[in-house]
Amino acid sequence: MPTPPSPAEDPRWYRDGLRFDCTACGNCCRDHGEYTYVYISDADLVALAACLELPEAQVEQLYCQFEDGWRHLKREKAACTFLDDKGLCSVYEGRPKQCKTWPFWQDTLASKADWSGPVKACCPGIDQGELTSADDAERIAQETEDWYENS
Ligand code: SF4
Ligand code: SF4
Repeated sequence: MPTPPSPAEDPRWYRDGLRFDCTACGNCCRDHGEYTYVYISDADLVALAACLELPEAQVEQLYCQFEDGWRHLKREKAACTFLDDKGLCSVYEGRPKQCKTWPFWQDTLASKADWSGPVKACCPGIDQGELTSADDAERIAQETEDWYENS
C-alpha cells in the first residue's frame, strides 16, 4: 500500500482526498446564508432554457436577476424556485454548473475550517461515502471557476 504524502510533501489540508455522498436532502437548495447564490452563466442559461423548454430571454426574465454584474437565480423564497415538493431539483438535467460541482469549489476547499464548519453544517453528505482525490477536487473547483469566467 502506498504511503500517504506527508504535510511537508503536500501541504494541502485535503491531500488525502475528500469524501462526499449526496443524501438528496435538498438543503443546499434552501436559503442558508452561506453558499446560497446560484450563479447563471450564459451557458447555464442555455441549458436551463432547454430543460424548461422556454426561450432564454423568458427564463432570464422569470428566474434571474443581476447583482454586481453577475446573473443569478432570483431569491424570492426560502428555497430555490426549482426545488420541488419532494426536495429534488426539478431542472436536474439543466441545473447550473455550480449545482453540479458542489461541494468541490475553491471557496469550500479554502480551509479545513470552512469544509468542516459551514460547508458541513449545510451539507450532510460531507465526509461521507466516495473518496475524491485532492487533484480531482482541485480540478473540479478550477473547472467551476473557469466556467463562470468564460461561459
Ligand atoms: S445538502 Fe449535500 S447532501 Fe443535501 S442535497 Fe445538497 S449536496 Fe446533497
Ligand atoms: S437549480 Fe436545482 S440543484 Fe441548483 S439550487 Fe436550484 S433546485 Fe438546487
